[in-house]
Amino acid sequence: MTTATRVDPLSYLGDQISQLKEKGTHFRLRVLQSEQEPLSTIDGKQVINIASNNYLGLTTHPKLREAALAATRKYGVGSGAVRTVAGTMSIHMELEEKIARFKNVEACVVFQSGFTANSGTVSALLGKDDFIISDELNHASIIDGARLSRAKILVFRHKDIAHAEEQLASVKDQPGRKLLITDGVFSMDGDIGPLPALCDLAEKYGAIMMIDDAHSSGVLGRNGRGTVDHFQVHGRVDVQVGTLSKAIGALGGYVCGTRDLIDFLYHRARPFLFSTSHPPAVAATCIAAFEVLEQEPERIEKLWENTRYFKKELGNIGFNIGGKNTPASETPITPIIVGDGKLTMEFSRELFKEGVMATGIAFPTVAEGKARIRTIMSATHTRQQLDQALDTLKRVGKRLGIA
Ligand SMILES: *Cc1c(COP(=O)(O)O)cnc(C)c1O
Repeated sequence: MTTATRVDPLSYLGDQISQLKEKGTHFRLRVLQSEQEPLSTIDGKQVINIASNNYLGLTTHPKLREAALAATRKYGVGSGAVRTVAGTMSIHMELEEKIARFKNVEACVVFQSGFTANSGTVSALLGKDDFIISDELNHASIIDGARLSRAKILVFRHKDIAHAEEQLASVKDQPGRKLLITDGVFSMDGDIGPLPALCDLAEKYGAIMMIDDAHSSGVLGRNGRGTVDHFQVHGRVDVQVGTLSKAIGALGGYVCGTRDLIDFLYHRARPFLFSTSHPPAVAATCIAAFEVLEQEPERIEKLWENTRYFKKELGNIGFNIGGKNTPASETPITPIIVGDGKLTMEFSRELFKEGVMATGIAFPTVAEGKARIRTIMSATHTRQQLDQALDTLKRVGKRLGIA
């Protein structure tokens, strides 16, 4: 056998990439050369960054940085094993206890990421005779978890309670378990899941109620306790997922609930069983972050103040910021709906050239024809940075016929 005659079995990938380029939705990764901050150096250029999930500015908080360094000095850089073998360090247990107290639940388990928290939990809780009733705009990690579980997936139209009830009613006489699941805040549109009405349905039909609070952790509820606290539906949500990767500023995901739920996940959630636990620095950083949430509530106030200002000004420019053919944002995520994928990517590139980092998002991340620039506020953007970003958005938006 000679390699000279071998046909590259991956040659189809080149064809697919060419197709992306033709559609105008192929991208190069932008590279951050500074810290993740409102004013960042990206691809060698200083830009105002309105693309990150660093809601509270915790990625560079001195207390978190010190906690990471101290834990590294004390415990080293890695845990050395999966949690169930030899990789459970006291600092991992401390973080889980800290989160459980913060969320006022019996227990908590931390995963490597929000993605694995969702996919690992949904796939562990349900099996092939069960049913998952899921909002059509739920995050990819929920969809993957649902597929892995082999349960039957019944999708309901976005935030459509009547449709969710129809789906639940259609399987109410089936013996399998039912899981009703929604994002707390929807990541592409910034609207909030209708928790109270979904909790009513879960109770009426005896379904397990689960929420994914990735974009609500640190953003909604008292001191950022999430949507359960925001809506005052304590005790009515069986499984609460959150992330440590967005407002919390580091990396990870967690599940909160009863002691039995957490004990079960310790035994059955596959990312927990088969993937190594966080380095001590990550756990220490997150512990410090929850302390900051309690000690510095002014960060959350500032986040919302910036959000109100930026949203109002974006609307004044004349952009479609949702609420017409897409859901209306209620949170620091504000989309600028463009529609066409190619034009969206051009908008994003032109913004970057003029000093604003705002990511374009197109199919398959959002539906075809609903491509958008997604803007995200943080507590640490200054008014001057926001005004400069708004000026640039207006100028480039008008030039491209978007505003
Ligand atoms: C970002 C996100 C996740 C994944 O969280 P990571 O910690 O980044 O893996 C899960 N669900 C939603 C809704 C998200 O936006």
